[in-house]
Amino acid sequence: MKTVIEMMRGGIEEDGIRRAGEILKKGGLVAFPTETVYGLGANALDETAAGRIYRAKGRPSDNPLIVHIADWKDIFLIAEEIPEQAEKLADAFWPGPLTMILKKSDAVPLTTTGGLSTVAVRMPDHDIARALIRAGGGYVAAPSANTSGRPSPTTAQHVADDMDGVIDMIIDGGPAGIGLESTIVDLTEGTPVILRPGYINEEMLGRVLGRIETDRALISDDDTIRPKAPGMKYRHYAPKAQLFIVEGEEERVRKKINEMAGQHALRGGKVGVIGTDESLGYYHEGIVKSIGSRLDEISIAQHLYGILREFDELDVSVIYSESFETPQMGQAIMNRLIKAAGHQIIYV
Ligand code: AMP
Ligand code: MG
Repeated sequence: MKTVIEMMRGGIEEDGIRRAGEILKKGGLVAFPTETVYGLGANALDETAAGRIYRAKGRPSDNPLIVHIADWKDIFLIAEEIPEQAEKLADAFWPGPLTMILKKSDAVPLTTTGGLSTVAVRMPDHDIARALIRAGGGYVAAPSANTSGRPSPTTAQHVADDMDGVIDMIIDGGPAGIGLESTIVDLTEGTPVILRPGYINEEMLGRVLGRIETDRALISDDDTIRPKAPGMKYRHYAPKAQLFIVEGEEERVRKKINEMAGQHALRGGKVGVIGTDESLGYYHEGIVKSIGSRLDEISIAQHLYGILREFDELDVSVIYSESFETPQMGQAIMNRLIKAAGHQIIYV
């Protein structure tokens, strides 16, 4: 299959959106930019089309897709019950990086929901994404547009690296703004529960909802507790190299990373180091990259997946990374980084 690239870095191109919408209506696959990461879209109400997403990604069939909508009224066709909490959250955060889990209606095929009786819904804060959703019929199922197990794509080039020749179209809208997937909140069981942390954090949700909990599987070291979002149980975002996170007081972290990187290099290994704009000058072993600035946490989120892909291409065998407990997105950033590291954390 030839994958068409539609360039829209300057904003919406109506002709391109129309062509993309036609592909979706015919059951094809279109990757598109959102404010979180690039999504791999198909018509969410078409079982065969949704099935193609799992195949293109190599995604396990029990890992449900998020249904993207562009207009609030469209939620009523796909959700059986809309609790008041959903309206409050939509008022506060939609369009935006928040996904809500609701009871699904019969309009949504089980293929889209990975066999579950609930459906994940989000309205993205991205003009191209919403124009595409409308052009494609209003309901676009879209997980991240990477091959399963690879870091999520934050540029059209990342998508092409994984999906060229496998999907119908990639819309290039420039780099994703936030760089990490949406916050997921389950509204189907009394107290709302955060199933996946993201840009919209617990405190922000708490201000709107009052009571809010976090899925125990996210905050516990006990990995026998099953996460409620099926996707969270997989070792996502895995770089090819062994990744170690070093956590502790700043000076000690830098010293430990230099020491371990030096030892690894002595043994003949190719080493990568993930620092920040503030710490770059302190590292003197291996290939050193800045993930962003500690003064701007979005810059860190934005480059997290990209930096893991860059180190993959450089074929390093080990990566040592600082840890990033930033004020708003710290929980989300560390959730993704710890998964990428397969929980290998060195405390100093
Ligand atoms: P992705 O868009 O690639 O980040 O994947 C979608 C995420 O949403 C995965 O972690 C899924 O497990 C989660 N998800 C989608 N639908 C549901 C649902 N009905 N209940 C719980 N989690 C869901
Ligand atoms: Mg994903």
